[in-house]
Amino acid sequence: MLIFDGHNDLLSRLHAIGDHSGASFFRRNTEGHLDLPRMQEGGFGSGFFAVWLPPQQHTGGFQPIHGGYAMPLPPPLDLPTSQRLAIAMSATLFKIEAASDGKLKVVRTVDQIRDCLASGTVAAILHFEGAEAIDTDLNALHVFYQAGLRSLGIVWSRPTAFGHGVPIAFPATPNIGPGLTDAGKRLVRECNQLGIMIDLSHLNEQGFRDVAALSQVPLVATHSNAWALCKSARNLTDYQLDVIRDSDGMVGLNFATIFLRNDGGQTTDTPLETMIRHIDYLVERLGPTRVGFGSDFDGAAIPQAIGDIAGLPKLIDALRKHGYDEDLLQNLAHRNWMRVLQLTLKE
Ligand SMILES: [Zn+2]
Repeated sequence: MLIFDGHNDLLSRLHAIGDHSGASFFRRNTEGHLDLPRMQEGGFGSGFFAVWLPPQQHTGGFQPIHGGYAMPLPPPLDLPTSQRLAIAMSATLFKIEAASDGKLKVVRTVDQIRDCLASGTVAAILHFEGAEAIDTDLNALHVFYQAGLRSLGIVWSRPTAFGHGVPIAFPATPNIGPGLTDAGKRLVRECNQLGIMIDLSHLNEQGFRDVAALSQVPLVATHSNAWALCKSARNLTDYQLDVIRDSDGMVGLNFATIFLRNDGGQTTDTPLETMIRHIDYLVERLGPTRVGFGSDFDGAAIPQAIGDIAGLPKLIDALRKHGYDEDLLQNLAHRNWMRVLQLTLKE
């Protein structure tokens, strides 16, 4: 069964280890969650490849707070630094495409994704996790769109010129801070016009409401879970899930244990049942056509029971044993993502 995945941080990991050509992507690694051999083994067909810009200074990681933790947000990034990093990481994806001998393609339309899925080519969608590399005149948005950008998070948690995000905090609510700036509202309209998907994961609740009021296409959170089951500020409240359902959008299940577990713990000793509980909840609340996967591979600690991208079939098998029929499994695996992209991308 081919899997469409809503989020991976391959490009950030390659950047962090200094592999700017992406050469290590083609061999089986023991580090990280994904590379081409393990993708093929796991039935990975397509997904969003995130450009996440690393903080330029350390913020100290998780700090304990009343009954949990919070990770202080790094300061905003300036435009030149952001553009330099975003161009470098996007270039790595294009270099991988060029060196892949047709095994990976950076896709720009739904038809291209469909062709790739049919031919066994990995279909990579370029995603920016945070809009720091976009100027408030939105000129860079058009340039990056022409280069292949088809999905954009207005923020990755730290504030941008466009909006405010949620800290990685537990227990905490996403109802923190102000909504979109005027530039953020213009960004939403321009993304709608160009056919760039807007990702609501990492955005705070007021920003979420602002996008919901403005956007003309289904609302999407590519890698977030149910707040009712794990009270992380990064997860979606029932209110947010209902708004996503009413827009006919979708949510990709995040595999990070800190967004899955009811104690918010970063322990890979987390059973598949914990993931299934979230999927049950999301399917119940959103409906069977509005849930998919958004693994966060290479970006977070995930359950040992999956291990890495080659372990994706274990999740499918567990869901099958849990009673999900083939139709619903196909929906979760890729059909729902294709449906939403069909309603969002142009051409
Ligand atoms: Zn993320």
